[in-house]
Amino acid sequence: MAKVLAFALTGSGPLPQSTYELLGGARAVADAAGGQVHLAVLGAGVAGKIGDLAAHGADRILVVDSEHLAVYHPDAYLAAARAAAEASGADVLLLPGDTRGRDLAPRLGYHLRAGIVTDCVALEASPDGLRFVKPVYGGKAMARITVRTDRKVAVMRQRSLDPRAPDPSRRAEVLNVEAAIDPSTFRTQVVDHISEETTGIRLEDAPVVVSGGRGLGGPEPFKQLEELARLLGGAVGASRAAVDAGWVPPSCQVGQTGKVIGPDLYLAIGISGASQHLAGITGAKTIVAINKDEQAPIFGVAHIGVVADYREVLPHLLEEVRAARA
Ligand SMILES: Cc1cc2nc3c(=O)[nH]c(=O)nc-3n(C[C@H](O)[C@H](O)[C@H](O)COP(=O)(O)OP(=O)(O)OC[C@H]3O[C@@H](n4cnc5c(N)ncnc54)[C@H](O)[C@@H]3O)c2cc1C
Repeated sequence: MAKVLAFALTGSGPLPQSTYELLGGARAVADAAGGQVHLAVLGAGVAGKIGDLAAHGADRILVVDSEHLAVYHPDAYLAAARAAAEASGADVLLLPGDTRGRDLAPRLGYHLRAGIVTDCVALEASPDGLRFVKPVYGGKAMARITVRTDRKVAVMRQRSLDPRAPDPSRRAEVLNVEAAIDPSTFRTQVVDHISEETTGIRLEDAPVVVSGGRGLGGPEPFKQLEELARLLGGAVGASRAAVDAGWVPPSCQVGQTGKVIGPDLYLAIGISGASQHLAGITGAKTIVAINKDEQAPIFGVAHIGVVADYREVLPHLLEEVRAARA
């Protein structure tokens, strides 16, 4: 394996945090195999965004800059990604596990005739080639997958790979890649873009997530969760039961049909730990659960469990964190 190509799908916004994570993962794989790391930056007005990418591990930066890439469009991004993949000649292509990456990866895999693995959380070198590691059965087991096609596409779950410490002395070659993006040939029509409203840090990017479930009993206690999340530099999440009850917006939902997250710390408060919820937190590094039922399944995955009524525990926890912050 000679080259690993990571993708940054930027639109007209800044580089996503996943770019640095993919570069870190790509660098580890390439270094183990004596290979190279390429980064494709697709978007509009890309020039000003690539300053620190060499320091974070890129050997070559392939820029596809087009007004047609200002907002995500499947056909435009497919054309750009194919052009970058051809220009790179990479064997392994890594895409971010956000909405854009999950949409683009299978299209790209199909057009490159490449095998694809989705929802990967790790990359492992092995004697029979690179292994893609992904949770299966709602996170109850990990599958290690090798791909037999020459080119391999993987979608990496966000926050599953570690960015490397920047090395300002590193340099990268920058290559402008022309992509044939012709809107008249687009097979998909995008009728609307609805931006998710977020205040503060995004759930997917948050190092700390404080989540509440049906056990909170209503929307009011979420204010305490918001304060705790803010003090810890994190975001608020929720179980589907809390979302379905209308206590918090759907953008907060964690789980199989919500967001899949991998924070350093996950606090589950009044959440039973149904398998569909757990599917969203298999990447969490430390899980703390507060639940009054000691038989709740969440305790099966929690690293720290508090069997108590959250109304007794949460005020003290808040007090301690406020004091520590002060
Ligand atoms: C196809 C499908 C997809 C789904 N996708 C998702 C998903 O993405 N995310 C998701 O979360 N769910 C999902 N679900 C729903 C899931 O099965 C559960 O119903 C849901 O996660 C339960 O939410 P909960 O833990 O908040 O509520 P409950 O299961 O009702 O648990 C509430 C918990 O709060 C505890 N509690 C009650 N009062 C207190 C108190 N005062 N102090 C402390 N603890 C207290 C209880 O002991 C209990 O354990 C999905 C279901 C299906 C069928």
